[in-house]
Formats: sequence, structure tokens, C-alpha cells
Amino acid sequence: MILLACALLLLGGGLLLLRRARCLHKQTGLPQGRVIYADTGTWNHCERPLFSSRYLLTGRPDYLVDDGRTKIPVEVKSTFCPPSPYRSHVLQLAAYCLLVEEEYRQPPSYGIIKYCNQTYAVEYTAQLRAKLLSVLAEMRQDLAAAEVGPSHANPNRCWGCGYREKCGERLA
Ligand code: SF4
Repeated sequence: MILLACALLLLGGGLLLLRRARCLHKQTGLPQGRVIYADTGTWNHCERPLFSSRYLLTGRPDYLVDDGRTKIPVEVKSTFCPPSPYRSHVLQLAAYCLLVEEEYRQPPSYGIIKYCNQTYAVEYTAQLRAKLLSVLAEMRQDLAAAEVGPSHANPNRCWGCGYREKCGERLA
């Protein structure tokens, strides 16, 4: 009888945990699967950011979810969503996809950008990958250049920029 009560208790606890995990996935917009990394500075398998020696690239997605087939990077933004994800956010996510591809020798088919009120699944296509590599090459060229113009025409970005006071190219 005691054994039966313990078994029921364990079963109840298990179901409660499962329910809470589902609830968390719903709240955070995470895809179904095991969260193998959350950007709290703690890795389950190693304590370091994703890194590619081939592309000299490193980064930490907010979450990495293992859905049993692939690892899906998730980037969480604290702002409300624009009509479609910002190009810079898509490229940032693509960089995480490239890093996952390099680290795990398997590219994810997509990544996720979660805004306050909307979640976008962004397909990691060959076209997006090529665009990312071309932007990275441009950035490396810019690093060596004496002067570099702004990469955008968005005054809102200048409003929030920490270099605003010193920048001669500011739009606001
Ligand atoms: S203030 Fe200058 S550095 Fe900052 S976002 Fe605007 S153009 Fe770029």
C-alpha cells in the first residue's frame, strides 16, 4: 500500500514537472525539445560560448534547444515586433545558426527570434548563409579601413547608440 502511494506521488510529481516544462516553453516561445543552453553563463556540457575557428566567429544565443534532430538557436528581444524581423536581428540569428553548424557539424534548419509579442521562425537557407558570409567579409574589410560610413538609415538606432555624442554620422 505504501509502495503504491509512493508510486502515485512520483507519478503526480512527474506530471506536474511535465506541465510546468510545457508552460515554460509556451511562455518563452521556445520550440519543443531539451534546452541544452541558456545564456546565463552556464553550459550543460561546457562553459564557453559557441565558437568557429574557420570563420573566427563567436557568440551566445539566448537559448539552444535540442529537438532530437538538430539544435535550434533562439534569440530573445525585449522590444515589440516590427512588421518583419529587423535585418540585423536575422543576421545575428544566422550567425548563431552558422556557429551551431560549426560546433555540431550539422546546420539547423531554422532559428527563432522572439520579440515581446511575436515569435518568428527564420529559415536557415543557403541564401541566408551566403548573405551572412558576405556581410562578415565586408565587416572585416571595414575593420581595416580608415573611415567607415553608417550601415543604416535609421535615426532610432542613433538615439539609443552609446557613440552618439562622438559620432559625426549620427542621424538623430
Ligand atoms: S550614432 Fe553613429 S555609430 Fe551610433 S548608430 Fe548612429 S551612425 Fe552608428
